[in-house]
Amino acid sequence: MIKQVPDAEEIFIDPVKFTLNRASARGIINPADENALELALQIKDKTGMELVVITMGPPQAETALIECMGRGADRGILITDRVFAAADTYATSLTLAAAVKKIGDFNLVVAGESTTDSGTGHVGPGVAQFLDIDQVTYVTSAYVDKENVHCERDLEDAVEVVETPMPVLLTVLMNSNIPRHSTLRKKIDAIRKGIEKWDHDTLNLPPDWVGLKGSPTIVGALRIPQERKREGKLITLDDIPEMVKELYEKGVIGKEEEL
Ligand SMILES: Cc1cc2nc3c(=O)[nH]c(=O)nc-3n(C[C@H](O)[C@H](O)[C@H](O)COP(=O)(O)OP(=O)(O)OC[C@H]3O[C@@H](n4cnc5c(N)ncnc54)[C@H](O)[C@@H]3O)c2cc1C
Repeated sequence: MIKQVPDAEEIFIDPVKFTLNRASARGIINPADENALELALQIKDKTGMELVVITMGPPQAETALIECMGRGADRGILITDRVFAAADTYATSLTLAAAVKKIGDFNLVVAGESTTDSGTGHVGPGVAQFLDIDQVTYVTSAYVDKENVHCERDLEDAVEVVETPMPVLLTVLMNSNIPRHSTLRKKIDAIRKGIEKWDHDTLNLPPDWVGLKGSPTIVGALRIPQERKREGKLITLDDIPEMVKELYEKGVIGKEEEL
């Protein structure tokens, strides 16, 4: 599962409306999804499994799928429909899970851990829940051995090794591998083969289950945080007694016996 996101270096905040202006930003593959795709490609290289890349998004997300097929994915499916617009993570997970089910028998679902434009990290676990399969999160590497997948999970202060039967969903951490480049030959093949497009009818999903109507999340308010001003003060050794007194009076520090 990959998502096209605006290039973070090219989006800016409208100074009047305080909204994200994405119009000028280039669409890129969400960085963690590049790592998820690379991991899936490594598994495909070793096992010969078929690799299908799916994304839910507007028609222009097709370019991201062509790029994935240019790197070696076998099929690209764009889940696109006006009724899918403004989906929260619940409706997004429901829709993606319906697409995975429609693909048919599968062993692995591989997603990024989170995105750079919304970054909830809900969607991978949400899809696993709707598919009623196990999930392994924070994966940095994995290989398939017969019916099982062996994964390494990065737990910040430890690496956990997990072996689990398939089918299972993995969420992959950003920067966990070096994504390969696409080749021109494979991209031309992808354009010739074409991207499949699925809408709510194809997925047999009623319109009020998806998109805005199917989204229980309500944004109650939007507040712009006050910019906090920070001041620097240059001090010399001679200033220290005065500075300690000032910090004591402000309650920032206490006397030794009070601590
Ligand atoms: C409170 C709230 C309100 C929102 N309101 C709106 C709104 O009104 N309109 C609107 O358009 N969006 C809205 N969104 C954003 C929308 O929920 C997300 O774009 C979408 O559900 C994906 O969530 P995420 O980016 O946090 O993905 P994450 O959970 O961070 O993504 C994890 C992984 O899931 C996969 N994934 C995620 N999204 C997709 C996808 N579309 N296709 C394929 N794979 C995917 C990728 O592998 C990704 O790395 C809102 C989000 C929140 C939190």
